[in-house]
Amino acid sequence: MTAGRPDRGQGAPLNPPLVLSSTFVSQGVPGDEPMYGRADTPAWHAFEGALAALEACPSPALVLGSGMGAIAAALSLVPPGGRLVLPRHSYQVTLGYAADLARRSGVQVELVDVADTDEVLSAVRDGDGTRPADLLWVESPTNPMLEVADLPALVVGAHEAGALVAVDNTFATPLVQRPFEHGADVVVHSVTKYLAGHSDVVLGAVLAADPAVRARLHEYRTVHGAIAGPFEVWLALRGLRTLALRVERAQANALELARRLAAHPRVLAVRHPGLPDDPGHARATKLMDGYGSIIGMRPVGGPDAADALVDALRLWVPATSLGGVESTLERRRRFTTESVTVPEDLLRLSVGIEDVEDLWRDLEDALDRTA
Ligand SMILES: *Cc1c(COP(=O)(O)O)cnc(C)c1O
Repeated sequence: MTAGRPDRGQGAPLNPPLVLSSTFVSQGVPGDEPMYGRADTPAWHAFEGALAALEACPSPALVLGSGMGAIAAALSLVPPGGRLVLPRHSYQVTLGYAADLARRSGVQVELVDVADTDEVLSAVRDGDGTRPADLLWVESPTNPMLEVADLPALVVGAHEAGALVAVDNTFATPLVQRPFEHGADVVVHSVTKYLAGHSDVVLGAVLAADPAVRARLHEYRTVHGAIAGPFEVWLALRGLRTLALRVERAQANALELARRLAAHPRVLAVRHPGLPDDPGHARATKLMDGYGSIIGMRPVGGPDAADALVDALRLWVPATSLGGVESTLERRRRFTTESVTVPEDLLRLSVGIEDVEDLWRDLEDALDRTA
């Protein structure tokens, strides 16, 4: 609650001022920042410091114009012709970016089941028998399949092989999982989702524990120019103030709804790490401070039944994205770019902070009406 606040003093504002300036008075002495708003601006500092505190990162975060901007920065750590290992159920645009790196920069991309530690580490060590990976990318829980990785074991194994480890921590948030505490090198966020939390901002952030790695990411941001606007960052900091309350409520709602859905005769399968029989349950219980608020669900009746269910809901919003205060859902395979290993009938539910009984009544009613 104190992170990202201006210094206390009689009459000082409680919140940092919104700085709208592209340029700053300076004699141009190197290191004399801020000088120019693409390289550095006080508009970013409060948020960058607060996010670093939440992630237990010794250096300030770097805010970028979107989650993908942050991911592109992190993936720039893979040299041309290098090797990149990533989960086959990563965020689909991350997979698209990796495919682009393979085409343009000759990066060898290897997709793995991130829940299978042996498979991941053997790919990291010597996928083609010649050289270890440069970077292991981890998403956990994965989007949209909710597989849970053994993060500490992956970090130890990847470091032994000489690879950096980057974690997309968007789904968990730093309140549920802090990858730096497990030794990860880089963390990225789609701030668009839980951190900002109100579906009104597109924003990203990348953090690195090692100042030398952070300096490379900072250089990438300045040169590529995918920077964040001051107002978006100001809104994200405002969102951060209620992150704990929102995550707590959304997680409680999600666990209750997952339990009820799993017991419903019109539901074929439910994935949520909080369910005791979920394949990720034991690992999530050991490694995470909660189970997140995303549910994977397959209704009886296939993709048509899934589409009908989405149409029949009144409170739940049919929409992509996630992590807002309002509950949303979508059938992921309606995107032709989604991985073919994601079931056609899988609905991804992002549970918000509404009254859980209202959310359940809407789901139950829609399940009944589409039976
Ligand atoms: C949404 C999302 C992204 C991309 O973030 P944008 O802010 O949309 O660019 C990356 N990773 C995950 C896990 C996401 O959910």
